[in-house]
Amino acid sequence: MRPLRWRVAAVAAAGLALALEALPWALRWLRARRRRPRREVLFFPSQVTCTEALLQAPGAGAAPAQPPAGCLCRLPHGESSLSRLLRALLAARASLELCLFAFSNPQLGRAVQLLHQRGVHVRVVTDCDYMALNGSQIGLLRKAGIQVRHDQDLGYMHHKFAIVDKKVLITGSLNWTTQAIQNNRENVLIMEDEEYVRLFLEEFERIWEEFNPTKYRFFPQKKRGH
Ligand code: ZN
Repeated sequence: MRPLRWRVAAVAAAGLALALEALPWALRWLRARRRRPRREVLFFPSQVTCTEALLQAPGAGAAPAQPPAGCLCRLPHGESSLSRLLRALLAARASLELCLFAFSNPQLGRAVQLLHQRGVHVRVVTDCDYMALNGSQIGLLRKAGIQVRHDQDLGYMHHKFAIVDKKVLITGSLNWTTQAIQNNRENVLIMEDEEYVRLFLEEFERIWEEFNPTKYRFFPQKKRGH
């Protein structure tokens, strides 16, 4: 009987050792499962801060903004709603969909160009009336080789949302103009939510197809009476 008891004890000891070994791993797994999806809201107007560090660092997006070495500008170098928006965009590694009525803010324009340079697949949908205005970033984005599509309608393409890596939705009232960023009361939600991302992506794809240049009418019918 003795050897059997010893064997049982040995197996039990080995089991315990294994369980202890696996404990940190199991805890990590549980913690990862419990990690709450990202839910953040940015309120504007944003404090005016220097965003050079974000826009120059090759892997920007992860680390908090540090003033670039030798940046002598007099702006504060801390966080702001704009810097947090830039960081959320610059976190993109694979894809970025933009659906924006107005896009004229240079920092956001640089961020989008930076992503394009890094190989992120960027697609932009915008409004035909606003994109023709002075200071619009759309021409610069196109020149950089970024795909842009726009409406041909009387109604505005009035959305203001972005989708990062088909995983994070950024949406709210903010037009991407310096005017709005620095002066208006606006809100922007940044959320990791599969369902909302799916619905917004579907809407993006629908608009993307609808605004396909092969479907443009080059001589749109004028409304009667005009
Ligand atoms: Zn600076």
